Amino acid sequence: MSQLDRRMFLKVLAATGATPALLAAQDSSGGGRTDAVVWKRTPCRLCDVGCGMLVGIQDGRAVAIKGDVDAPANRGLACVKGYYAVQALYGSDRIRYAMIRRNGTLVRVPLAEAYDVIAARLRATVRQHGRDSVALYGSGQWSLTDAYVAGKLWKGALGSNHIDTSTRLYSASARAGASGSVGVDGPLGSFADIEHADVVVLWNHNIAETDPVLFSRMLERRRTNRLRVIELAARTTRTSYGIDRSIRYAPHAELAVIHAICHEIVARRQVNREFIERHVAFRKGSTAVGYGLEGEPITPDVPAAASWKEYVNFLGAYAARKSEPITGIAPEDITWLASLYADPARKVLSVWGSALNQHARGTWVNNGLHNIHLLVGKIAAPGNGVLPLNGQPGGAAAVHDAGSEPGSLPRGDVRNAADRELAARIWGIDARRINARPGRSALAIFRGLERSDVRFLWVHGTNPMVSLPNLARYRRAAAGDSCFVVVSDAYPTATTDIADVVLPAAWWLEREAVYGDAGRRLQHSAQMIQPPGDAASDAVHMIEIARRLGFARLFPWTAATHVEQSWNEYRRFHAHPATRLPSLAALRGGRGMLWPAGSSETAWRCNTAHDPAADKRRGQFDFYGHAEHRAWIWLRPYQPPAETTDARYPFWLASGTVLEHAGTGSLTRRIPTLHRAVPGAYVELNARDAEELGIGNGTRVRLISRRGSIELPARVNVRSQPARGQVFVPSFDEHVLVNMLTLDACCPLSGQPDYQKCAVRVERVT
Ligand code: SF4
Repeated sequence: MSQLDRRMFLKVLAATGATPALLAAQDSSGGGRTDAVVWKRTPCRLCDVGCGMLVGIQDGRAVAIKGDVDAPANRGLACVKGYYAVQALYGSDRIRYAMIRRNGTLVRVPLAEAYDVIAARLRATVRQHGRDSVALYGSGQWSLTDAYVAGKLWKGALGSNHIDTSTRLYSASARAGASGSVGVDGPLGSFADIEHADVVVLWNHNIAETDPVLFSRMLERRRTNRLRVIELAARTTRTSYGIDRSIRYAPHAELAVIHAICHEIVARRQVNREFIERHVAFRKGSTAVGYGLEGEPITPDVPAAASWKEYVNFLGAYAARKSEPITGIAPEDITWLASLYADPARKVLSVWGSALNQHARGTWVNNGLHNIHLLVGKIAAPGNGVLPLNGQPGGAAAVHDAGSEPGSLPRGDVRNAADRELAARIWGIDARRINARPGRSALAIFRGLERSDVRFLWVHGTNPMVSLPNLARYRRAAAGDSCFVVVSDAYPTATTDIADVVLPAAWWLEREAVYGDAGRRLQHSAQMIQPPGDAASDAVHMIEIARRLGFARLFPWTAATHVEQSWNEYRRFHAHPATRLPSLAALRGGRGMLWPAGSSETAWRCNTAHDPAADKRRGQFDFYGHAEHRAWIWLRPYQPPAETTDARYPFWLASGTVLEHAGTGSLTRRIPTLHRAVPGAYVELNARDAEELGIGNGTRVRLISRRGSIELPARVNVRSQPARGQVFVPSFDEHVLVNMLTLDACCPLSGQPDYQKCAVRVERVT
């Protein structure tokens, strides 16, 4: 494998045609300015790294942007998306005014009229069909205060728990896995672990394209021989060329690989016995969990105690040679990986992202990765631990989700009477108003449309009519007229196409916000420019609807001050040191704080030297999220995927992210430079497969799955190189919909769909 240092990596980024440089200020609009440029600080909004940026404001417009050299995440760097991000504010087709569909066409209306229609329809739907007939689907673009207002409106005012966000598609398995393993959601460490680690192991994570600034930090450490970067992955990507060693495994084999590594650690007596005895317990759960294909996708898991002996017996099935037919990894490589993890002289950080979480056993895989670190006692300490990256900004990384998940409250769980009482007390409502039954998660909301169970749906800042798996099914469901659909967004999308009412959303610099990143940093973002037309924050739109529904008492906040007011109320849920939130005053003007944070931040959670919530009497660590103050090693078996390849559909299809685009591209496709660099989707094939099929670069091919087909150009040896029998399609293109092919199987514990494996056939289009 060729090697790449940081300088080469920057050149590779530039070679996309999307960026000439990363460090200098870039004028992003041009022409006709009078005032001097004033530089203001803000976090970038296009991925979960949350890079600190300096935005140049002139004449009320954002005209330039550069990395903030003092920002902890990026230290002055930015990737191509961040570098051109301000252009996404000024797309020519920006939604400026409210619209209502009349005779099949969306027509402009006064904002107040749209609010009246939405409120009337919402009230009538609840009256006629009950509170379970209304649902809200939010976004990873949300500010924490948007999420808080949404949760309060739906759960506290309407009494419906049918609320979820697009983060379900990216990070739900990481959240469920962490909660199951260490008892708390969100990473125990932070991005700073990169500089403390001796070894980073990337798990099926093309970090060069998904989190390029963090990859750059790794390469900088590697350049000075202080860090080795290892990759386990199902395909060769741009990341593979820049690191020390890349090991291929078979699609879906993660659990078998993890258990094989653990088996080797145990067999070689490299377990940290002292850590296990003091800080770990063993658990097993239900194994007949299905694939979430029908019915409720979130299956309750009932943990049962297990013993060390049971765990050792369990691992016996995964000895490296025995599991090789599943993993595709040579036994000597498993031994080598085990020795890296177990070496007492090395600090090891495991890093992964959406591609690993998008797995029909995603929660179990996340549990398994924690297992490795718990077995050798390398967790929750500088350079030792796990760092799941989430893909989406904001909500995906808002470690406590402000009550915008189907089973959550701003603190705690709807099933817990004490948590409902706390919410009711802070909200000033009768606790009986809060439904004690968790609501529908993302796929279940859209399946509810199919069955006419969901009759009112409000979508905020996300594009499910492109991003849902098995898309034809959900597009058919949304095309029916039994559900009234409201969409708030900044740009027209395939989802505004199905809306009955569209509301104009303010984005990024146009509104004040508090955001969280994947490294637990909470950052304040000030309003710097005016939103276009009638655009407003999602929270402002929801507050207006709440007032029209008669809930003005619950939302006594103004458009100008609602962020501070709702943040202050949200903070009342989090007075405990384990989840404490800083004041807005502490965040304003600064570069953020690692949550939990009061006057100071928490660098490593559950580590008694760093976390004020951890009890020093328990030794170096206190996993207080579990009642017995121990982390759990789970006995989660490898199980086959929901769908397999066969003679008719012989290729594995994976889908995902490219450097130049975020999500479904609704923002990044409005940035001319990025759109020109990667204007449409393509399918990457292995060179030998392509040769056998008579396919070259640019050949038009048809991909066919058991659910649908798409046509698109082929790419061979251009960017990523799938292994033989695999193909990859980026998912940002709303004109070439890879999700017409994907299967809506999901992890039944987290509800996160598996976008990484479905069976397809490849045909040359003649
Ligand atoms: S790495 Fe993410 S946060 Fe940083 S500049 Fe790029 S898109 Fe923005």
